[in-house]
Formats: sequence, structure tokens, C-alpha cells
Amino acid sequence: MTEEWQAGRLDSDLDGVGFDTLAVRAGQHRSPEGEHSEAIYPTSSYVFRTAADAAARFAGEVPGNVYSRYTNPTVRTFEERIAALEGAEQAVATSSGMSAILAMVMSLCSGGDHVLVSRSVFGSTISLFEKYLKRFGVQVDYVPLADLQAWSAAFKPNTKLLFVESPSNPLAELVDIAALAEIAHGKGALLAVDNCFCTPALQQPLKLGADIVMHSATKYIDGQGRSMGGVVAGKAELMKEVVGFLRTAGPTLSPFNAWIFLKGLETLRVRMQAHCASSQQLAEWLEQQPGIEHVYYSGLPSHPQHELAKRQQSGFGAVVGFEVKGGKDAAWRFIDATRVISITTNLGDTKTTIAHPATTSHGRLTPAERASAGIHDNLIRLAVGLEDIVDLKADLARGLAAL
Ligand SMILES: *Cc1c(COP(=O)(O)O)cnc(C)c1O
Repeated sequence: MTEEWQAGRLDSDLDGVGFDTLAVRAGQHRSPEGEHSEAIYPTSSYVFRTAADAAARFAGEVPGNVYSRYTNPTVRTFEERIAALEGAEQAVATSSGMSAILAMVMSLCSGGDHVLVSRSVFGSTISLFEKYLKRFGVQVDYVPLADLQAWSAAFKPNTKLLFVESPSNPLAELVDIAALAEIAHGKGALLAVDNCFCTPALQQPLKLGADIVMHSATKYIDGQGRSMGGVVAGKAELMKEVVGFLRTAGPTLSPFNAWIFLKGLETLRVRMQAHCASSQQLAEWLEQQPGIEHVYYSGLPSHPQHELAKRQQSGFGAVVGFEVKGGKDAAWRFIDATRVISITTNLGDTKTTIAHPATTSHGRLTPAERASAGIHDNLIRLAVGLEDIVDLKADLARGLAAL
């Protein structure tokens, strides 16, 4: 069997094709077996034809695999596909979303550097900076996500990196990424965006001017709650450092998980469209219910950043925050009355989930910190999945009836 049959069917043919075509096809290199779907390569190492071949590959003179902590064909296909979808020169996969963030900071920052982080980031991201990176001399300050003046005012001469999650969880606050990138670059700093909640199907931060983007692939990229992983993407010059750190430190992605994420990417946009459509309907419906005090969803005209969300994102996402009338007890009664929706803090799954942020994801904050972050005791977070909308409404109606 020869490889000729696949000539003319490689990446170069994908120049200028649309997002969905890239999502289905980018990065695939068929083996001479001619498999239609992507192959999984569960191997830790690779053989060389001769001792000289081994030497050349180790020296980097000849391209090719050496060891799966460095490169693996299935993982590479996932990396190339994500890079194509984010509009990045290069992407590198990691064992989880947290190791993506760790790799990004470890490779771009040194002791003595100052990092600005948006105040409402993922809880483990705050722990990473506070408990660990600070021990190595990385200075960290937190800034309210949406407030561009506050970002400008928070710079120090040694500010190296800005790190944001936009939209935020669970209040769906946004920052104007293009404007923040301009501020960062004007002061010689880099802008990193955790794009987990939007995925490249709804938002492409690099095209808005961000320097580096990362994901927890565990969420919407898998989309079915099966496996852990992450990815960092950006300009080749920055990625060189990130790749170097990952190869040395080792939190790389397994080929099995890479394969699951590849299959996830193929349906990413249609899934995100369905997630967004159901979220919009539920947010509008919840806003009209007498038991509900407030709904946080950027697809609602009542959201203060609705216009920015329309401009910056091609969809409003699938996380809906809402406050019930009453306090913690009312919120818990609402949650406990649901029968279909899962009580869990995970998101980015076909299965809809419901959680009480004040006592779970944000439970480690002091009451004062929670108040300043807008996490009230009556707040509930819904991460909308792909079940029938009538069933989700009926389930939420059970919650409303329990108030
Ligand atoms: C889940 C999550 C992470 C961490 O990802 P893991 O895959 O759980 O390590 C980081 N950022 C955001 C926004 C997340 O939701």
C-alpha cells in the first residue's frame, strides 16, 4: 500500500475553508491503512530505522516522534485541529485545564513578575496563583473583569501578564477583549484568555488581539463529560516556551483523551448552537417567573453587556445564573426539587447541571469576598445541556414550586 492515494488530501487543501470543515477535518494525517476516522496511537515510544536515524531524530534534524511525552500522532491531530479553530499558529495539549494554565504561567512568567487576574476566575486558578505561584515570587493582583479603567490602574512596572476568563462564571460578565489587549500591549504585557465557556465556536480571542488562549477541554470540547484534558494555543514564538515546559514537566495529554476531544470538536458548533438556543429560552422564561429575582445571561437585553456580547461572541453561552426570592434555604429547596437535572458543579456536558455557587464553587471565599464578587446566597447556576427544553422547563418548574 502506498501513501500516494492520500496526496492532495492533506492540510494544505483546507486553506480558506469554514469553521465546521476545519472542526471535522483539520489535522488528520491518514496512515497507509486508509482509516477514515482518526486512528488512536497508544504507544509510549517509537522505533528508529537505524542508529543514525535515532540520532537525527533526537537532535531534531529529522522530524518524527521520539517519545509520547513529546509528541504522539493522535495528540498532534487534536493540537492541529484546535490551532485551526482558534486561528493560532500552534497549540499544545495538556492533561487538564489546570495544567494548561500552569504551563502557560510557568513558561511565560518568572519570579518577580506581576500578573493581573480577573477577579471572577475558576476557583482552582485562584488557588494556583495564591498557594503555589506566589511561593515562587510571582506577584498577583485581582481586577474586576469588566472595568477597563481598573485594569489600566492596576499595572505595575513589572506587570508581565493579564489573565482573564470572559465570560465569567456564573454571572456572565464580559471584558472587551480587543480593548484589553490594546491596554496590555501598550504597557508591554501579554493577554491570556481562558476560553473554556465560549469555545472557539463562539469566541476566538486571538483574532481579537489576545496573545494566548487556553481551555479546559474537559468541558465543551469533550462535551459529554467523559475525560479530562486541556490545551494552550497562540503564536509559535510564545508556544515554544509552553511546549518546552510541558515536555519537561510532563502533564501531557493521553492519546485516548485526545481522540475523544477530536470527536468532540467535530460536533462542537452544532452542540454549542443547541446549548445556546436552550439557554436563551430558559433564561427568558426564568426572567418572567414571579419566584425569580434576577437572571444573569448575556443573551438577555436586561444584561448590562448585552451589546458587547453580541459584538464579541457569536453566541451567549450555556451558563445561566439566577437568583431566587429568598436566601440560601430557598435556593437549596429549588435545587433539591429538580428530578432530571443533575446536582453537580461540572458544566459543558450534554446533561444539564445545577449548583449553588455560594456553598460549592465559591464556598472557600469569605462572605465579604463573595459579596464583592456578586455571589449571593440566593444565586443558582444552571449549565444547560441538550435535553428536551420542555423537560428542562418542567424540572425548573418543580424548583419554583418548592420556593
Ligand atoms: C474547569 C475549568 C478549568 C479547569 O479545568 P480542568 O480540566 O478541570 O483542570 C479552568 N478554567 C475554567 C473556566 C474551567 O471551567
